Amino acid sequence: MPKLDPISDDFRAAGHKLIDWIADYLDRVDDYDVLSRVKPGEIAAQFPAKPSENGRPYDDLIADFESKLVPGVTHWNHPAFFAYFSITGSQAGILAELLTAAINANGMLWKTSPSLTELETVTLEWMRQSLGLPDGLFGIINDTASINSFLALAAARENLGLDIRGKGMAGRDLPPLKIYCSDQAHSSISKGALALGFGSSGIELIPSDDAFRMRIDALEGAIRRDRAAGALPCAISATLGTTSTASVDPLPQIAGIARREKMWLHVDAAYAGSATIEPTLRWLWTGIEAADSIVVNPHKWLFTPIDCSVLYTRKPDVLRQTFSLIPEYLKTTDTAEVNYMDYGLQLGRRFRALKLWMVMEHYGMERLRAVIRDHVGFAERLAAELQKRDDIELLAPQMFSVVVFRKRSGDEATQRLLDRMNASGRLFVSHTRLKNKLGIRVAIGNGATRWEHVARVLEFL
Ligand code: PLP
Repeated sequence: MPKLDPISDDFRAAGHKLIDWIADYLDRVDDYDVLSRVKPGEIAAQFPAKPSENGRPYDDLIADFESKLVPGVTHWNHPAFFAYFSITGSQAGILAELLTAAINANGMLWKTSPSLTELETVTLEWMRQSLGLPDGLFGIINDTASINSFLALAAARENLGLDIRGKGMAGRDLPPLKIYCSDQAHSSISKGALALGFGSSGIELIPSDDAFRMRIDALEGAIRRDRAAGALPCAISATLGTTSTASVDPLPQIAGIARREKMWLHVDAAYAGSATIEPTLRWLWTGIEAADSIVVNPHKWLFTPIDCSVLYTRKPDVLRQTFSLIPEYLKTTDTAEVNYMDYGLQLGRRFRALKLWMVMEHYGMERLRAVIRDHVGFAERLAAELQKRDDIELLAPQMFSVVVFRKRSGDEATQRLLDRMNASGRLFVSHTRLKNKLGIRVAIGNGATRWEHVARVLEFL
């Protein structure tokens, strides 16, 4: 039997060709329409019902990729991609992904690849320092903020001391358990709580104020009412940089309540957390010393290709107590500090730290800071330009790199403007609804974005 994959000249030639393809793509990505125009099913219809029996050369596959798949790509690496949270597959990150696949190591245990574990520990300590987060946090990389918040809420539940790990939740005398976050929190908090058995009645969405920050009086009132009704408040999730407007919950007051009520304090800074590599934006973390867990996504605004999300906690022992389960075949005698499989749900783990390391080291923190400063500056300039216009209203204060606006004439006109922008292919913006008004949402975050890309928004007004 031939080996699956004897090293061949074809591999080398295809590899070189692909690096050229990637370089050309990144160089010319601005020429593409940002948003793919294909109709549902159009991409799938181009593929045969069964895979090839005898294989096809790389050249054929690269040609298929270009002609059949690229038309169905929405170009997240486009400098005028302003929808959701715009992200960057940076060149350093792309090269690291190649190496990750090449060694294809699984970092479930320290000994299954010491480099995976130890580089993760090193880069997360660098990142902690670079963000100005408190000393002594334990960090772990997982795929997404959604999963990291789920893990944090699981630890919060375990931290109640009710031995839910041992006894489960059903058929015993447990009070209703409650999680609190604002009505602007990302849906992943509610999803995580649902998966952990809190039930939708166990999730309290606290109203936010005029600037979309969690209302402290409403939080206190909800906790008081729940306690009086016999429920057990478990965790508060504060959002620093909400999805719709990048608003920042009042963490110091929330932390005071969490401390007083002996609740777990989770902080979702998936987007805005990365901005604090720039010291002037570190006000974001005011009150963070009290956080039990913190989520920051380098795959959002730290120029690392998706996926890469970091969970920091000052209670790794609780995370471990929640998730560690070591079958005989995974027992080791190493005295290594950490086997990351003990701190989450998944066993196998990719070498995600490699791309984060390569991004930080290749560009250097000062260059990354400069890009963050540019993005925030572009958002400030856009907000200022929009405010000069009588027909436009900002729906929320401009925060970090997010601007939300609408046509004063109402939702229909706003929707028409949004549709016109996105149909042009020249930029991609998304929408949100704030106080029942439709808003066009611009989030700047791609490493190639210049002011001239952001200024396209103004051309459509
Ligand atoms: N938290 C916030 C504040 C977000 O804005 C998002 C996504 O936009 C998430 C969490 C979820 O991120 P992920 O896609 O990494 O699960």
